[in-house]
Amino acid sequence: MRNNFQKEILSDKKTYLLSFPFLNRYGYLNCGMILKNKGDPQRTLLELLTKDQKQRSGYPKLVIPKQRHTRKVLPISSEDDLKLLEKSCFDGFLTKLKNVYLCIQVADCIPLFGIAPEKKMVGLLHVGWRGLVSGILTEFLSKVKKEFKVAPQDLMLIMGPHIRGCCYEVSCGVAALFDRDTLICDKKRIKVNLEKALLKKLRIAGVKEKNIFISGECTFCHPEFYFSFRREKDKFKRMLAFIGMN
Ligand SMILES: [Zn+2]
Repeated sequence: MRNNFQKEILSDKKTYLLSFPFLNRYGYLNCGMILKNKGDPQRTLLELLTKDQKQRSGYPKLVIPKQRHTRKVLPISSEDDLKLLEKSCFDGFLTKLKNVYLCIQVADCIPLFGIAPEKKMVGLLHVGWRGLVSGILTEFLSKVKKEFKVAPQDLMLIMGPHIRGCCYEVSCGVAALFDRDTLICDKKRIKVNLEKALLKKLRIAGVKEKNIFISGECTFCHPEFYFSFRREKDKFKRMLAFIGMN
């Protein structure tokens, strides 16, 4: 496990971008998050992606699903698959298509980025407690294997900033769905360490420890960089996580 993340302020001075410097060696990858911002994160991302590039009509394409904390993961192998996004909700997807940027909106849940450098496949998941408990990770790994022939040990995974064990208070009913060692209890409150719960599942699935990267920053604790739904109770304040290949 390693932490190596870098925040920079974009030129419009209203937006922070989170990037992962350890990914620089893969020149074809664009991967990161548009953090707390006053503007439109999707527009900001498009501007960023098209800054130095010639554009083919309609590309780069941002793929943004309707998220509902489900376990549904969509493999995108062709243009036709993109049409499914209109018809149904998804909380994860994966693709080998170039210039198709997978995006999810988060404000406390874990954005989980997946990369298979050998097979040039990328994926992105929206992982909250509901998704984790209902098995979105298993669904993702099985689709990665079935559709793109990628084994868990060949995957690199990055957990972006999310609400951590310090702040993620849950009800007794939710706590009961988690292993005892992922809970933090005092007399009044129960909190879940979602990162630890996800990490356990990743290890069991066979993902290598050295291929897992964790931001280690809590969205609730850092209002200067992040939106937090728990803190702000505003469903329009969302950050945009993205990954794609050029
Ligand atoms: Zn915190």
